[in-house]
Amino acid sequence: MAALQDTKPENLPDSIRHYIGGEWVDSIDGDTFDVLNPVTNEPYITAASGKKADIEAAVAAARKAFEEGPWPRMLPRERSRILHKIADIVESRGDQLAAMESYDSGLPITQALGQARRAAENFRFFADLIVAQIDDAYKVPGRQVNYVNRKPIGVAGLITPWNTPFMLESWKLGPALATGNCVVLKPAEFTPLSASLWPGIFEEAGVPAGVFNLVNGFGEEGYAGDSLVKHPDVPLISFTGESRTGQIIFGNAAPYLKGLSMELGGKSPAVVFEDADLEAAINATIFGVFSLNGERCTAGSRILVQRGIYDEFVARYAAQAKRVKVGLPSDPSTEVGALVHPEHYEKVMSYVEIGKQEARLVAGGGRPEGFETGNYVAPTVFVDVKPDARIFQEEIFGPVVAITPFDTEEEALELANNTKYGLAAYIWTSDLKRAHNFAQNVEAGMVWLNSNNVRDLRTPFGGVKASGLGHEGGYRSIDFYTDQQAVHINL
Ligand code: NAD
Repeated sequence: MAALQDTKPENLPDSIRHYIGGEWVDSIDGDTFDVLNPVTNEPYITAASGKKADIEAAVAAARKAFEEGPWPRMLPRERSRILHKIADIVESRGDQLAAMESYDSGLPITQALGQARRAAENFRFFADLIVAQIDDAYKVPGRQVNYVNRKPIGVAGLITPWNTPFMLESWKLGPALATGNCVVLKPAEFTPLSASLWPGIFEEAGVPAGVFNLVNGFGEEGYAGDSLVKHPDVPLISFTGESRTGQIIFGNAAPYLKGLSMELGGKSPAVVFEDADLEAAINATIFGVFSLNGERCTAGSRILVQRGIYDEFVARYAAQAKRVKVGLPSDPSTEVGALVHPEHYEKVMSYVEIGKQEARLVAGGGRPEGFETGNYVAPTVFVDVKPDARIFQEEIFGPVVAITPFDTEEEALELANNTKYGLAAYIWTSDLKRAHNFAQNVEAGMVWLNSNNVRDLRTPFGGVKASGLGHEGGYRSIDFYTDQQAVHINL
């Protein structure tokens, strides 16, 4: 059988380089690494591999732009106009962006397009927010006036993962730039392609040189990510990635007392009670774990189902999971594409094998038929999963779901809270009182009641327990990227 091939996007660059102080540059030591296409697992482009010296150059450029350039001194309205232009350009290049993202990451093209639109919306949202920003002022009659002087902090280090890379980068770039900071972005090494579009977009929108800098490469000690975290002139690190990487970064940033925002892993429960709208709950929980190839931080990867509807739920869920369309990432009818990288594929497949020892398999469980090459995993459903099973406790980050029965609301809550993570929770019930009480007690940063995973960008985004530290979203992002100086005046 011939190996699968996906459609190569048009206008690919010859190679992926760093962008420092308004110039495209190679690594100072000339080092590069191969970037793989997830359908063939063959290298299709090389990227510059940044080290300490490249980070030093990027931080120096960002610092110069911060100390001497116009960006932090512009009126919010002026920066806002430029951010709106960025949003317009991202929107107008949505198809190109989606094609690149899909080819590089294996995400289905329709979903990659949705993420490109969301990236534009992130910029638009923070462009609006920054001009609407109000700060506190307090008067003690006859004695004192106090007000808050909000200031950008300096050079922000942004470190991002490979799932929905462009969108997640925009979620950090939007508020960091809106508030007047200068940035160094270190995108994920598995998926550096779409980030290489930012410099062109920013130049066209009028972002001054040095405000945005991009260094590609790995995260480990001595490489780009680690060097950014340990750079003394980078007072802020916004990180999204695995919980154990977050722990390492936390330790490495400690000697410098850096500001940290940590968006980490998850193993989020979807709790389906007997009185739920079953059709809606099944559709949403299928989408919740199989969209974005299951490589979604807020995936509802543990489904807890009340005993009275358990058998029916399992039968209907398994049948629907088998109908999820696996295909080439560029095919508009594809619902699950190829996982990002062979290393990640091996990890997900190892959990599929572990699951076969721990629980009952009712759908998937290996490569889908007709996909003998590339990082393809069939949508996989395990049922009767015990809470001490590894597939119940550990983040798999692929199209694999664990279904567990429960009898009472108390048991459902205990099961929901029984992992180290606390990112999201989904609750399906027609009893409004129960829904709100459950939301109050579930250990999750975000809860969706009878709802799909759709967010309002004004709300806080972040997790509790091992899922994160701090919140982004709305004015919380503005708070993270600014110092709030209190000024007191005696009357
Ligand atoms: P990862 O932690 O392996 O890598 C993330 C980024 O950190 C990459 O750019 C990597 O190069 C860099 N990095 C690695 N080691 C580093 C170090 N020592 N110092 C500095 N940088 C370092 O994560 P991943 O595999 O790319 O992403 C998947 C994970 O991200 C999952 O756990 C997922 O749940 C999580 N995630 C969370 C959210 C959220 O908002 N909570 C969103 C998306 C993804």
